[in-house]
Amino acid sequence: MYEVVIVGAGISGMRLAHLLQQRGIHYCLIDARLRLGGRIVSQSMAEGAQPESGHHRYDLGPSWVWPNQPRINQLTRQLGIKLYPQYDQGTLVYQDQFGSIDTTIDAAPMSGSLRVQGGQQSIIDHLSTKLETERVRLNHAVRSITQGKAGVSVKCATACGAKTIYAQRIVLAVPPRLVANAISFFPKLKPEQTQAMCDIPTWMAGQSKFTAVYSKPFWRNHGLSGYGVSHIGPLSEIHDASPENESRGALFGFIGWPAQQRQALGKELIAQALSQLRQMFGPEAAHPLQVSLQDWAADPLTATVADLEQKAQPQSGSLKELDHIWQGRIMFASAETAKVFSGLVEGALEAAEKAFNDLIEYEVNH
Ligand SMILES: Cc1cc2nc3c(=O)[nH]c(=O)nc-3n(C[C@H](O)[C@H](O)[C@H](O)COP(=O)(O)OP(=O)(O)OC[C@H]3O[C@@H](n4cnc5c(N)ncnc54)[C@H](O)[C@@H]3O)c2cc1C
Repeated sequence: MYEVVIVGAGISGMRLAHLLQQRGIHYCLIDARLRLGGRIVSQSMAEGAQPESGHHRYDLGPSWVWPNQPRINQLTRQLGIKLYPQYDQGTLVYQDQFGSIDTTIDAAPMSGSLRVQGGQQSIIDHLSTKLETERVRLNHAVRSITQGKAGVSVKCATACGAKTIYAQRIVLAVPPRLVANAISFFPKLKPEQTQAMCDIPTWMAGQSKFTAVYSKPFWRNHGLSGYGVSHIGPLSEIHDASPENESRGALFGFIGWPAQQRQALGKELIAQALSQLRQMFGPEAAHPLQVSLQDWAADPLTATVADLEQKAQPQSGSLKELDHIWQGRIMFASAETAKVFSGLVEGALEAAEKAFNDLIEYEVNH
């Protein structure tokens, strides 16, 4: 029996595993996916395209870190990962609802934010080297959690059939809404506890991110920052995502259209996004070396139906319902359960740290 089983190997679960390992606590980290990192994933250039120096990867999930976030700044420093400023020199490209373009506005709302060299995936890669591999189990989708005398039993679906893992305590480093959606509890949780989980939206779960990689950040030569706003779409908000050394140029945009509309378009959506980039940034934008489209709303390990319908705002109003479930044997630790930086990578680290402190306190008192 493990002392702690952590469900969810996003950055929150991985950070908690790292802290428990340093403390010598017998833990197991499981995830339904075949990879670590959860919402953090970055993509290299496709095979066949000339690799760039430094092997930059483009973020399909989170991109930014802010200087006022103590944990992520400290963690990247400790892991030897460099942060660099979001490019913010030049004007915005603004497209109104009639398609008219204005390139005279000076606005840089992401000014001061930082990007991660090599993509945010570098944080996951570095953290994974700190974890003992035999404690990490991928392809384990938790289906149910049952309370026992000495702890909990966790039933998982795996490639080799159903498996049960036993632990004294369980930390759910999975967004609460997904827990309510996919995991059964025996005995049943109180209705207000289940409702509280459903009420906590998963940050950015309904979003879709389009990235186009170019040989150079050509827009910079035209006095443009790469920041764009459009009231037509499909891209509603566009940003410069180029590597710091300019070995390539990249623009990424959030698709502003609702999930059902964009998913019905299939590959046509990519053609429409490129056509929009050409209108906004000029003819060079029509010829990327590579494009990628990551629709998080179509990922059942991130989004539920409820996440497709509303814009997620971080909120922690329902969190108190999730305290002390089964006398504290069940705990939560995803970014959504953080009090200060709810929904963000910093929040995921904050939640991991809180779960760690609570586990240590529990150990001392029992
Ligand atoms: C498009 C996008 C842009 C974003 N931009 C930013 C940004 O710029 N800056 C920022 O700070 N944050 C941003 N975020 C938010 C950031 O990605 C999250 O805060 C962070 O990655 C959450 O980490 P986590 O470990 O809490 O959760 P997750 O990364 O979601 O990890 C949860 C894990 O649980 C697993 N899981 C789910 N169900 C089960 C189950 N039944 N059994 C086993 N495992 C399960 C999943 O596979 C997943 O690996 C963005 C998110 C998205 C999607």
